[in-house]
Amino acid sequence: MDNDATRYGACQAYGCPLFGSIGDAGRWVCFCHYGRPLAAYDDVTRELRGPLAPVVEAVLLIRRCYADFFSSPETFREIRAGLLAFGRPDLCYSDTTDRYARCWLARLEAVLIDATAAVGFVHAPAPRAPLVPVIGPTHIAGFLPDQPGDDE
Ligand SMILES: [Zn+2]
Repeated sequence: MDNDATRYGACQAYGCPLFGSIGDAGRWVCFCHYGRPLAAYDDVTRELRGPLAPVVEAVLLIRRCYADFFSSPETFREIRAGLLAFGRPDLCYSDTTDRYARCWLARLEAVLIDATAAVGFVHAPAPRAPLVPVIGPTHIAGFLPDQPGDDE
């Protein structure tokens, strides 16, 4: 479980691509793994590395350039191209919904949190099959012939 020796600053859930930004029970984890049971860690990581990978990449790029696109306009274009290739133009920066780059980052992180919120939870067990009602005596009191005092 301890992989921080190789990836300084990373989420301590094994294989998670995000940064560890929140303390949780002695570990630094990302916002998607925060508060989740250990049994759900692998499922969350699988989602982040699989279907959500383009959004994760956008979040990492924004954080790596400190949301400063004036200094690195090529990063902005790279993120936009990645999200368009992912088929989610609604996740690209918009002047109307995202006033600042950090608002855009928060919106992308919220997408990841929402997408992983239900991952890894054990669902309620299937309802039991109806049982057959008990046939015969339900009390044993009158059916113990060897009890002392019954013969007298
Ligand atoms: Zn994580």
